[in-house]
Amino acid sequence: MKYISTRGGIAPISFKDAVMMGLATDGGLLLPESYPQVSAETLASWRGLPYQELAFQIISLFADDIPAADLKALINSSYASFRDPEITPLVTKGNLHILELFHGPTLAFKDVALQLLGNLFAYLLKERGEKMNIVGATSGDTGSAAIYGVRGKDNINIFILHPHGKTSKVQALQMTTVTDPNVYNIAVHGTFDDCQNMVKRLFSDIPFKERHSLGAVNSINWARVLAQVVYYFYAWLKVSASGKQKIVFSVPTGNFGDIFAGYVAKRMGLPIDKLLLATNENNILTRMVTSGDYSVCTVVATVSPSMDIQVASNFERYLYHLYNEDSSKLNAALSAFAATGRIDFSDQEMHQVHSDFCSASVDQKMTLETIAAFKQETGYLLDPHTAVGVRAAQDSSLPESTYICLATAHPAKFGDAVKAATGNDPEMPSQLAGLDQLPSKVKIMESDYDALRSYVEANAC
Ligand SMILES: *Cc1c(COP(=O)(O)O)cnc(C)c1O
Repeated sequence: MKYISTRGGIAPISFKDAVMMGLATDGGLLLPESYPQVSAETLASWRGLPYQELAFQIISLFADDIPAADLKALINSSYASFRDPEITPLVTKGNLHILELFHGPTLAFKDVALQLLGNLFAYLLKERGEKMNIVGATSGDTGSAAIYGVRGKDNINIFILHPHGKTSKVQALQMTTVTDPNVYNIAVHGTFDDCQNMVKRLFSDIPFKERHSLGAVNSINWARVLAQVVYYFYAWLKVSASGKQKIVFSVPTGNFGDIFAGYVAKRMGLPIDKLLLATNENNILTRMVTSGDYSVCTVVATVSPSMDIQVASNFERYLYHLYNEDSSKLNAALSAFAATGRIDFSDQEMHQVHSDFCSASVDQKMTLETIAAFKQETGYLLDPHTAVGVRAAQDSSLPESTYICLATAHPAKFGDAVKAATGNDPEMPSQLAGLDQLPSKVKIMESDYDALRSYVEANAC
């Protein structure tokens, strides 16, 4: 299996090279040249497989340059840190199925992908005799999942910047209590944008980037999408076992990474009826799907902060397919978007969009109402991101459909929103309860690019 760039500017590369490249060198996103097709017989033979074995079956179709025994070991160690033997268990509440993706070490779905990516990096760096210094900025969830993905690993150091005092208390503690020698937490006196701007500037210093082999862990890495494809198969196989048809996945969406994984599963032949794209007030993707209005607005802060995104970087992958893999058409659309802040779609393109997706936007008031009502009716506590997807499913009017709602975070990670909705603090799971007692490691810094650059220089591996 070879990988190409959406922008058409690189020669095809292997899976291993695609993982190490992250963002394509022409600025595009990497995709497989084609999607392996899974027949009905193969699907039936996968029913009942444990999660790790199913993951091996699916991932090996895309990662054919890693020996089977090595890939199995990588997958097994990636999911050994999960607290549930099913890895992504499915629960049924009312008439909805909830796919719990938050049983990893940081209690959000990003662990499913970042545990595997961390292990892949360590494996490939060892094989190549190379080192990597990961540098990233986080507003909360991604940073801690990335830190847990690479803590204690050889040949990798990780530097994660977060805005001091501007993440939730739990989110900051989840990062700063990781004291492994290869983990460097940096709390910046400034905003998330200040953090991100400093990181971007560091990556644009090419001699520095090359000298220290700077690496990124953002959601554009193909391996992250691939790891997420697995749970669509896992959940579909379980729900369809009882004869259910017309299965719809409701996906709380920010950067379009999670839902794109569902699209990949559909392209591989998994009979998903529709992907329900759920957004909060930052709803450019809902406007696009429902009325073809892909025009950028300013980001508003909501109770589901991991979805407070306007321009979703992974959407480029879908656009490439919508344009029938025509990179020049994609490049023209992206230039037009950079110049005007919008892209227009033809009737035929919108027809295609509607065969893949439906969409709804759920505002903060509805989100909090949904947390309260769902708790009241079913006894089950939703986190605010999951609640966006649940509300979208409840309000969706597709006849005779069965809904699987992706639960992307544990409610205890977003205690303020839960308390605002229900009047009570969520119960703390044991791994969050004792965090404030643990030793911590964090460098507090002004928003000063030169100070950051010197700090990374001094501590790079
Ligand atoms: C990142 C995140 C999302 C959004 O996922 P995307 O892949 O960016 O669409 C939703 N919920 C939670 C809790 C997240 O951390």
